Amino acid sequence: MPPPGFAAVRIDPVSESGLDLGPECPGCGEPWLRATNLAGRYRCVYCLRRYELRSECPDCGAHSTIARMSDTANMMCRACRASMLRPI
Ligand SMILES: [Zn+2]
Ligand SMILES: [Zn+2]
Repeated sequence: MPPPGFAAVRIDPVSESGLDLGPECPGCGEPWLRATNLAGRYRCVYCLRRYELRSECPDCGAHSTIARMSDTANMMCRACRASMLRPI
């Protein structure tokens, strides 16, 4: 088991080059998902879709403890790795 907080993170080698690539947008697949100033709300600056981070997995129903809302490590279900983001 990977340590908590790292289970859902995919380290993209590109991000080591200094580019500020974020998590991929479930809508367009581009790595431009950004947290907004609202807790649990994200917006893709590429396709401008808005997403809400759910505390319950829409796929398997597992609850995730959202310890750090600003941490993108919590954006995927630890059980099934489905995205916890829902379009709003
Ligand atoms: Zn997008
Ligand atoms: Zn799940």
